[in-house]
Amino acid sequence: MKDMLLCKLGEIVLKGLNRKSFEQKLMGNMRRRLLGLGKFKVSCMQSTIYVEPESEDADLDAAFEALQDVFGIVKISRACACEKDKDAIARLAIRYLADDMRRAKSFKVESKRSDKSFPMTSIELSQYVGGELAEAYPNCAVDVHDPELTVVIEIRDLAAYVHAQPVQGAGGMPVGSNGVAVTLLSGGIDSPVSSYMIAKRGVRLIPVHFFSFPYTSQQAKEKVVELAQILTRFCGKMTLEVVPFTHIQEEIRDKCPEEYFTLIMRRFMMRIAERVANEWNAKAIVTGENLGQVASQTMEAMASTQAVIDLPVLQPLIGMDKEEIVQLSRKIGTFDTSILPYEDCCTVFTPRHPRTRPKVSEVAAAESVLDVDALVEEAFRGIERITVEHE
Ligand code: ATP
Ligand code: MG
Repeated sequence: MKDMLLCKLGEIVLKGLNRKSFEQKLMGNMRRRLLGLGKFKVSCMQSTIYVEPESEDADLDAAFEALQDVFGIVKISRACACEKDKDAIARLAIRYLADDMRRAKSFKVESKRSDKSFPMTSIELSQYVGGELAEAYPNCAVDVHDPELTVVIEIRDLAAYVHAQPVQGAGGMPVGSNGVAVTLLSGGIDSPVSSYMIAKRGVRLIPVHFFSFPYTSQQAKEKVVELAQILTRFCGKMTLEVVPFTHIQEEIRDKCPEEYFTLIMRRFMMRIAERVANEWNAKAIVTGENLGQVASQTMEAMASTQAVIDLPVLQPLIGMDKEEIVQLSRKIGTFDTSILPYEDCCTVFTPRHPRTRPKVSEVAAAESVLDVDALVEEAFRGIERITVEHE
């Protein structure tokens, strides 16, 4: 029996002329994700990507798991191929789906014919194979309305395929198909989730972290490296840029009015993020901001931080409830790391009474005592780059 995976593509099927390049991107991402799991052939035909083991040690179970994290795939099923003959198909279904058929109480067969030269209609084929399966597994009754198990038969160009119960894929679009963005990654709950959401739209991410040693500890940095590492499950290999932020924060503390500390600090983050973005030809900055969650997340505060850059700021969490964000962070596996108790640079020198509804001009005036360009330049030059990739 030749066991393999059939991966159904999502939105990229709609992309007309771009479709080929989307498919190529996706297959490249899939091949990278399969590295270390043995040799596989990955090929695309009729909007389905086929993943076939090509070596003895190819681990199909592991591949099945791994590909569920790859954006651009909506459904994955384990399938088995045979010649396009009704009896060969029935024999294969009986053998290949034995465990599923013994476990289920009811089933139906669904056939799809993309090869229209096949001599039976879909309905005839479903009825035929359904009859053979019902005879082989008397415990499992045919129920076409609400079956526990749906057996799928596909008659495609090269062969017939039998499979059952697909699992959901990660959805979204292939990473790299929608450009590059810088994502601001703190150690909190929100920013890993905002990064995930934008990566899901096909964007390759450059994570940037602002690090205020010794006010924030080495462990706080390691936590962010770990979060980036977890995100590589979905995003692939990334370069985490760690920006030394201590001098900027000390300058703000020493020279600016306290109520503006956080706002000025966030303006520096944006400027440096934009510098990094230009290096990578990235076209947006992603943050985990959420309207009203903290003092710096009012509309006025966000206007004052975004005023200093030209790139658009993407804030995918802006309208979500905390509980929804927490749920997603559990789903993607970042929650347990995010709640480790290390401080973030945002909690260093926090003002007792932060301005929540600042005018942009007030913040600019409060910061005008600083040599902004020199500070940005110095931080930019001190960046440490850490490569993170999926193990
Ligand atoms: P998070 O849970 O992501 O830390 P938050 O609710 O704590 O978010 P803020 O601290 O106001 O909110 O930060 C808002 C956003 O700014 C974060 O989601 C993140 O994108 C970015 N940010 C904050 N601190 C840092 C940092 N030290 N390095 C990089 N980005 C940061
Ligand atoms: Mg934070």
